Formats: sequence, C-alpha cells, structure tokens
Amino acid sequence: MCCDAAYWNEPRLRCTVCAMPLAHRRRAAGRARYRCEACFDAPPAFDATLALADYRAPLDLLARNLKFRARLALGEEFARRLALAAQDALDTEGMPDIVVPVPLSRERLVERGYNQAWQIARPLARRLGTRADATLVRRIVHTAPQSKLDREARRRNVGRAFALARPLDGQHVGVVDDVMTSGATLDALARTLKTAGARRVTNFVALRTPKD
Ligand SMILES: [Zn+2]
Repeated sequence: MCCDAAYWNEPRLRCTVCAMPLAHRRRAAGRARYRCEACFDAPPAFDATLALADYRAPLDLLARNLKFRARLALGEEFARRLALAAQDALDTEGMPDIVVPVPLSRERLVERGYNQAWQIARPLARRLGTRADATLVRRIVHTAPQSKLDREARRRNVGRAFALARPLDGQHVGVVDDVMTSGATLDALARTLKTAGARRVTNFVALRTPKD
C-alpha cells in the first residue's frame, strides 16, 4: 500500500522555508526562491524544509501506522523518498553534515518504545551518506500534546523544550520528523541548534499539514 504511486502523485509548489503549499510563484532577490508570506514576515529559525506530501487521507494513515502501530518499515520508505527529494532539491552544499530526529520526551519514549522520527532519520542519513545522531538533542520538558493547543500556546509550549549534548561548531543539521503541523516544535529546536552554533538547519518531514 505504501508503494502505490497514486498515493504519492502530488507535486506541489511549496515554501522552501516551511514547506507550506504556495498558491503563486514568488521570487526574492538573488536566486529564485519561493517563500510563503509568513516566512517573509517572520522567518523561523530553520532555513529550509523538505516535505513529501500533505498530511491528509490516505497518506496520514501511513504516518499513524508508523507512529502508533509500530509499522517501522514505513520509516524506511519515508527515508527513501526524502533522500530522493533531497537529491532533487538540494545541491551538495545543501546536504546536512549530521541528521537528528526530533526527540520524544523520556516518558513518551518509554510509553511507545521507539521514536518514529528516528526510524526515518537513521535510514535517511545512510542514504545521504552522512551520520545520524539520536543523542545530540534531548527533550527536557514533557510538553502537552501540540494538537490540543492553539498556535500561540504551541509556541509557548515548546519554547524551552530542548537541550543539546555538545556545541555544534558551524555544522549544517538536518532535523527529521514524521509530521510537521504548526512548525513551532521545529522552530524551537532550530533555535536551540543555532544558539549552539549550527550554521544551517534543514527540516526533513514526511508529511506537512496544509494549514495551521
Ligand atoms: Zn513558509
């Protein structure tokens, strides 16, 4: 089911920063770049986002099967497609030096038994010829589930949620997650990475909700 091409046949023009679908082509000074209005007005801490498709039926079922039903082979499939998308969209300089998953809190990791983002991050790093590191970023606060909060509450909820094991020294960090919703979690994580010295942060997400 996960390999049915009809599931994935969804080429969309997306904001290069946050992967939100764009209605119109936009151009900024210099090279051609496409950004949504929100990213022009208030750029997030991350520099770029690659997303495979929108989070909606029937693809949302794949993400839920990976997250809640331990269909771990789906992580490999998301990774394969993300690696192809990266080779398509990023030049050599755009490739990350290190790939990290969005970490779960310790409580949630114990409850679920695995981090679905790591199930994507590890095979993705292998395909990109870089390394994956599950120990660099730690979740220090057990945040409330984001889906229950409005946009502003989401930002506050994740504001100081992460800690790093070591400084980053100008590295380009690839951050992997299964689903991107408001982007608040990824923004908070990118802010933490940049504060620790990351030169650039690129998100790799399997599915993107089309609206907040
Ligand atoms: Zn955007």
